[in-house]
Amino acid sequence: MSEMAAYPQSFYTATAVGIRDYPVLEGQRQADVCVIGGGFTGVSAALNLAEQGLDVVLLEAERIGFGASGRCGGLVGSGQRWEVLETEKAFGLERSKELWKFAESGKQDIRDRVDKHGIPCDLQRGQLVGVHKKRYLGWAREQADVLAERYEYPFCAALSAEEARARVASDTFLEGLFDSEALTLHPLNYTLGLARAAAESGVRIYEGSRVVRYSRSDPAVVETDKGAVTASFVVLACNGYLGDLEPRVASRMMPINNFMITTEPLGESRAKALINGRFGVHDTRFVVNYFRLSEDHRLIFGGGENYRAGFPRDIARFVRPYMLKLFPQLKDVAVEYAWGGTLSVTVNRLPHVGRLQPNVFFAQGYSGHGISTATFAGKVIAEAVTGTASRFDVLSDLPIHTFPGGTLLRYPGMVLGMLYYTIKDRI
Ligand SMILES: Cc1cc2nc3c(=O)[nH]c(=O)nc-3n(C[C@H](O)[C@H](O)[C@H](O)COP(=O)(O)OP(=O)(O)OC[C@H]3O[C@@H](n4cnc5c(N)ncnc54)[C@H](O)[C@@H]3O)c2cc1C
Repeated sequence: MSEMAAYPQSFYTATAVGIRDYPVLEGQRQADVCVIGGGFTGVSAALNLAEQGLDVVLLEAERIGFGASGRCGGLVGSGQRWEVLETEKAFGLERSKELWKFAESGKQDIRDRVDKHGIPCDLQRGQLVGVHKKRYLGWAREQADVLAERYEYPFCAALSAEEARARVASDTFLEGLFDSEALTLHPLNYTLGLARAAAESGVRIYEGSRVVRYSRSDPAVVETDKGAVTASFVVLACNGYLGDLEPRVASRMMPINNFMITTEPLGESRAKALINGRFGVHDTRFVVNYFRLSEDHRLIFGGGENYRAGFPRDIARFVRPYMLKLFPQLKDVAVEYAWGGTLSVTVNRLPHVGRLQPNVFFAQGYSGHGISTATFAGKVIAEAVTGTASRFDVLSDLPIHTFPGGTLLRYPGMVLGMLYYTIKDRI
């Protein structure tokens, strides 16, 4: 076939359903919209645009879901990356409620897409947040109360240490918050299913088609090594894999790497004794641990991150200690898959969505909370392109600052900041 990269080896690629080979772009094309990037953001934007009757080309440098979308933890949390008390303090109650509704709408979109297109992505309900520090005691009760009273969201319950440990066998949990309407999914299969739906709606998808430059003209000319697309609108959806394609947005996000492992099958009873259900779990650490069981009773576990270009040589060895800290009872269990992925964070961890010029839109920087936010961002970009920008305007109004030092010097400052929080996690 083409010079396309293979998918990275991971539990998700080993259990992928519906990988299709889309062609490499060769020659010239015309389109209403050219979407760059084939993860949640790009595929969601393309699908929503095609459903509005627009002629869309999607260019993916590698494979659909090759980036963070096909590698992530699969935990679809409720709300934004910021908790509601933080958004209330920063933006007031009304705006905070609006942002909460956006996140709920992102979650609902996922459910609707999975139903409508029959996407086999093992969608499950529920998420438990395990409190790891005495200083956070009481946080779960407060969250559950505020969400029920001010956000019409009665689906969170505060759990005592005993209740939390009855669901997740980790002594590190001092309390818990259980959200029965959060979701988990197989992220690669979700992305592949959305892409299939987009293709069936008329989106012309090209893989192995890295965009090397695009003009700032109207219409824009988007170029790959072997072809070009002339389009009235461009949607940049490259997130942590953007590289130097667009310096105007690169300086407001920083790519960071996260790592995951999957154990050998534990057997049904051992898996159930570890986590009593198919819900997702994460803790309250700054460098968060996140995990869940697979359909075949493995533990899928994410933990550890780094802030440089490469991944650790032995990812399994890097992540395993994080798993054993929470679950020392797994010390005899083999790790069968290990992989890493790159996401992007903003300085304040709010998503960065906007418009660089009248015909160029972008979304990035979901800061580890990307499944519902990216799905939603793709949808509101489609709304804005087709002339209804009210929801897009709220997102693009969020304050996102450039990293001190820009793209060259953002790393040293970031590493120091991360070290500070990692140490705080431990005390
Ligand atoms: C290990 C890990 C665990 C995570 N866990 C969770 C989680 O549990 N829950 C959660 O909500 N979020 C999680 N995230 C974050 C989430 O995965 C991302 O926020 C989300 O996938 C971003 O989607 P995206 O489409 O914007 O970017 P991506 O999925 O990264 O897609 C960008 C795409 O753009 C392509 N591209 C880049 N440059 C070009 C170019 N020049 N031309 C053409 N194509 C290009 C790339 O190849 C890539 O496929 C995690 C991330 C990682 C890495």
